[in-house]
Amino acid sequence: MTSDLRFIPVSEPLLDGRELEYVSDCVRSGWVSSLGKYITEFELRFSNFCGTQHAVAVSNGTTALHLALAALRIGPGDEVIVPSLTFIATANAVRYTGATPIFADCDPLTWNIAPEEIERLVSPRTRAVIPVHLYGHPADMPAILAAAQKYDLAVIEDAAEAHGARCGGRRVGSFGVVNTFSFYGNKIITTGEGGMLTTDDLVLSERLRYLRDHAMSPDRRYYHTEVGFNYRMTNLQAALGVAQMERIEEFIRRKQAIAARYDELLAGLPGVELPPRAVWAEPVFWMYSIVLSEKFAVGREEVMASLRRQGIDSRPFFYPIHTLPPYAQGQASLPVAERLGARGINLPSAVSLREEDQQRIAAALRHIASPAVRK
Ligand SMILES: *Cc1c(COP(=O)(O)O)cnc(C)c1O
Repeated sequence: MTSDLRFIPVSEPLLDGRELEYVSDCVRSGWVSSLGKYITEFELRFSNFCGTQHAVAVSNGTTALHLALAALRIGPGDEVIVPSLTFIATANAVRYTGATPIFADCDPLTWNIAPEEIERLVSPRTRAVIPVHLYGHPADMPAILAAAQKYDLAVIEDAAEAHGARCGGRRVGSFGVVNTFSFYGNKIITTGEGGMLTTDDLVLSERLRYLRDHAMSPDRRYYHTEVGFNYRMTNLQAALGVAQMERIEEFIRRKQAIAARYDELLAGLPGVELPPRAVWAEPVFWMYSIVLSEKFAVGREEVMASLRRQGIDSRPFFYPIHTLPPYAQGQASLPVAERLGARGINLPSAVSLREEDQQRIAAALRHIASPAVRK
């Protein structure tokens, strides 16, 4: 069945504010590389947004994670606890340093790292824990900070999917010693590719800037005291970032409105589990996500294929990383992550999504689940 209906993407960037104006300004002025006014402006706006003292812009969210770990001098022989149900970058960044990621299961109430997993997995080699705010719902930061403090672990929030989400009224990206964000094309705001680190620690922020720029001595050009990186953001990217920051509050409100509408439209559909909303949390619903329970009439792959035939895009949840080839060896089962990974679907969540699109999506899901469709 093909249709002349609009194709509904899972996400698409919205770039119709001052993005073009600011990028043109970079091109006209010649400030296209990694120096320029938009970088400092973007860092300032982003730290204000998160409520942190400092923000350091980098080339993407993966390099942000790697830089955070490198700045904390985490390396071979160290262990870092990460959730298994996250985008692969969280674990890969740990591997880049030579340290070992240790995979934690999810809390069924938030889909994020279960705080008690830290107690279970900690060892004398554990140096840090990286909570991820999956699909825009914050992890239980007070419980994670308490466990980390008990074992003297650094906390690095991977907030790539949760710009602006709040935990107990406080914005994510302000809890850890250093925290990371992504501005990839499908994230809450985008710079094409891009990333940011936030911290309240001045010395650490200076170390991040220094490692971002090949660890070049600030007062001796081309004198390098350790092996650093080129993880700089360009002024062109930052120009997009500044324009997107002018609209971030609006984007978040729209994502939350989209989620509220989905909650209403899908309520009572047998076998559909709606996304978590912990009482202490203010999620931003980067991706509105549902879990098709054992009671749902049709399997996940069939549901996604059927949606696609009706012009509706969707995504499966991430594979739990402990099941993927580079990380699976010797791994014990993590049942909550495995169940969510096998049954979760991200529904279209772009800020440009319209009410009639959502009605179409909900109607399609109801139709797929209806007994008449089952053979
Ligand atoms: C997107 C994402 C990243 C990586 O960001 P990139 O900018 O694509 O490198 C890291 N962690 C999580 C949880 C993400 O969703």
